[in-house]
Amino acid sequence: MCSVDADVTKTSPVSVTSKLPDVGVSIFAVMTRLANEHGAINLSQGFPDFDCDPALVDAVAVAMRQGHNQYAPMPGVLPLREAIASKVHTCYGATYDPQTEVQIVSGATAGLYATLTAFVHPGDEVILFEPCYDSYVPVIRLSGGTPVFVSLRYPEYRVDWDEVRRAITPRTKAILVNTPHNPTGTMWTADDITALTALVDGSDILLIGDEVYEHIVFDGRRHESLLRYPALRERACVISSFGKTFHTTGWKVGYCVAPQPILAEVQRVHQFMTFTVHTPSQWAFAEFAARDPLAEKLAPFYQQKRDLFLDLIEGSRFRPLACEGTYFQLLDYSAIARDHSDTDMAMRLIIEHGVASIPCSAFLYKDTGGPVLRFCFAKKEETLRAAAERLRQV
Ligand code: PMP
Ligand code: GLN
Repeated sequence: MCSVDADVTKTSPVSVTSKLPDVGVSIFAVMTRLANEHGAINLSQGFPDFDCDPALVDAVAVAMRQGHNQYAPMPGVLPLREAIASKVHTCYGATYDPQTEVQIVSGATAGLYATLTAFVHPGDEVILFEPCYDSYVPVIRLSGGTPVFVSLRYPEYRVDWDEVRRAITPRTKAILVNTPHNPTGTMWTADDITALTALVDGSDILLIGDEVYEHIVFDGRRHESLLRYPALRERACVISSFGKTFHTTGWKVGYCVAPQPILAEVQRVHQFMTFTVHTPSQWAFAEFAARDPLAEKLAPFYQQKRDLFLDLIEGSRFRPLACEGTYFQLLDYSAIARDHSDTDMAMRLIIEHGVASIPCSAFLYKDTGGPVLRFCFAKKEETLRAAAERLRQV
């Protein structure tokens, strides 16, 4: 795992026994800091460098002026929960009660934290597909659980269902599914869903769906949400984020949907994490999530950015891997420096060429990974052009 320890500049009489002794500062914060220090174009941390719809900002201001400035109800403001229930019904044919089966959270990070904390007891195992998003493992460990890794192997990154079968034990509490997948950009297929359904049938395994990139899918692919499938959604908590869908990663608003007995446990924890989420933003999203104009336009919007980035780096020595969804593109650098670790290569790119990326080893625990770096293409055309020009020189 690639991380950099926080600076320790002061002493304290308090004896500190870390609960996460192996965990450093998140790779996303580290790479953005390095990009700023070196004046590099930042394609590392996943966030748009363009603004959200000004009408959304206006809607927050209106909500504030209308006096929506105090605590929201703990599950979230009802019109937003209703808009989410309506959206998941339209998109996935799933019926959830907005009163008891939808919880607004402070970003998907908080949804994941609440869900894992609610369900993982000491000694429980959680199956993860690695490379995996950086928050999963620390949260499982904080609850005394054990992450069990199934490798998605370079360069295809498909699920090996025999490996999943072997990973399941009587201690398996949950399987965490992230599709579309960060960092590889792969998406689960209907065959993956069939295999998962057969494996969990008859068990009491919880499924946790990290579906934050649900609307960022390319080339006509269908997002295989756990919510589409009755046999899966009855045992699933699915988490998404408005940060990705509405270009508002800094607002930190997302949601969990789950059958009432599951969501009630998530809510037990969530009420003591943040109690509630920023009220005016919820009113604004209620208006937008109901109309949902962006979600439909989001896939073509990002597909055009992916294609532009791929066109622009043509002629470089980087080789793109298939990107089916998300706003991340993996580039294989083996024609440039086969012997470099991805961390060394990412550092070289920042320092010598002025482009920041993410080394995929930051998402790995067991596997050694491939010679690939992750580039975020949620950027203005001029940013992508400038970055690609530099990448073509490498
Ligand atoms: N899961 C994945 C796969 C992500 O890429 C991200 C981050 N962007 C999150 C969860 C966290 O989302 P949020 O910013 O809404 O907390
Ligand atoms: N999810 C974003 C990424 O993968 C970053 C989120 C964060 O900075 N914690 O780059």
